[in-house]
Amino acid sequence: MAILNVITVPHPTLRAKAEPVTEFDDALKTFVADMLETMYAEKGVGLAANQVNVLKRVFVTDCSEERDDPRVFINPEIIAESEETDAAEEGCLSLPTMYSGPIIRPEKITVRAQDANGDFFELEADQLLGRCIQHELDHLNGVLFIDYLSRMKQQRVLKKLEKVLKEREREEAEA
Ligand SMILES: [Zn+2]
Repeated sequence: MAILNVITVPHPTLRAKAEPVTEFDDALKTFVADMLETMYAEKGVGLAANQVNVLKRVFVTDCSEERDDPRVFINPEIIAESEETDAAEEGCLSLPTMYSGPIIRPEKITVRAQDANGDFFELEADQLLGRCIQHELDHLNGVLFIDYLSRMKQQRVLKKLEKVLKEREREEAEA
């Protein structure tokens, strides 16, 4: 297993549409294991393949308190969503330390996806997991949570992010 490099805004892969997975082979299983390891190492609740510079329709989540509920979604589709919505702040490993909102999303969704063996499953999800699934699925379509913000808030986040990334680069150069 390996920890993968998480890319940050404005990397172009974050704006590209990921391609469906057609081969459920050992390489895919290794990739999924690496994604989970990377998500845990980065302390994220979700990670999409675009974020590790791979354009495949794959994402992983763990929204549990105990960090013991790894979930894998391949070729996911939202097949139902509630009319009720829910507003919350969101963050993203590709915009490190930036949290902003409110991001309004359906409160409850049903997702249909495949696991690493290619078997289909359906899952009804709300609260943090429901939100996380919608956020990660957006990544596979090149959409970021800041796209839901007002232009002004978006500019503010991007400006702050630039500063944070520059600071990080400086620290890495000194280390
Ligand atoms: Zn994200």
